[in-house]
Amino acid sequence: MAPTNDVLVQQQKESRHQEAGHKSLLQSDDLYQYILETSVYPREPEIMKELRERTAEHPWNIMTTPADEGQFLTMLLKLINAKNTMEIGVFTGYSLLATALAIPHDGKIIAMDINRENYNIGLPMIEKAGVAHKIVFHEGPALPVLDQMLEDKEKLGSLDFVFVDADKDNYLNYHEKIIELVKVGGVIGYDNTLWNGSVAVSDDAPMRKYVRYYREFVLRLNKALSADPRIEICQLPVGDGITLCRRLF
Ligand code: SAM
Ligand code: CA
Repeated sequence: MAPTNDVLVQQQKESRHQEAGHKSLLQSDDLYQYILETSVYPREPEIMKELRERTAEHPWNIMTTPADEGQFLTMLLKLINAKNTMEIGVFTGYSLLATALAIPHDGKIIAMDINRENYNIGLPMIEKAGVAHKIVFHEGPALPVLDQMLEDKEKLGSLDFVFVDADKDNYLNYHEKIIELVKVGGVIGYDNTLWNGSVAVSDDAPMRKYVRYYREFVLRLNKALSADPRIEICQLPVGDGITLCRRLF
């Protein structure tokens, strides 16, 4: 006998991700797993797999960039021929390694994180991949580094791509500075802009404390990016949501 509509709805609800920190916003875990197993894992470079598996042992592993998003970044960087890039929020370096492998041999990544310890976990694998020479790592908060870069006229409009994946309460502060550092036609990717799906639920819906706290900032960011005439935008449901911004002038 065919299942009734009620049964189908219940089945769908049960198959949705229960984990608060789950990365995928897709309808079901099976669908996400299908993408990973069909298109992502078979093409993932061995060294990225090694870093992903090492990161999975970390107590904060939920922070890592998921493999499908890593593949997306790789494709994007190659499509736009990115050479000079920046990353704010490195953690153990999965998106950093994806970037380092995607840009040319003489490409550069200015990477920033307040925590060097986690970067050091991924560093041996970045070295093994032969791409460590492309990375200049700054330990500490990103804002002062951006301010310093803005003082150097040569750095204005010098970046092809920037990936922002750090403290969500600072994204709008970052934006005002990065917009000057990325070239006209260059791309900024703001990560986690769907914030666990919390951007689309009511204010009084139950959610974890940290999700609720940053949700306000993500909502404000999304509105501000949407209204910013200096950029063209595209918000994608990859990972936890990534908003691509292309500088127009
Ligand atoms: N892109 C990383 C990856 O692929 O694994 C994940 C980054 S994780 C979600 C966020 C990182 O931002 C953390 O490692 C944290 O230490 C860093 N962070 C937090 N506040 C920061 C700040 N003010 N400046 C620079 N990094 C910051
Ligand atoms: Ca992220």
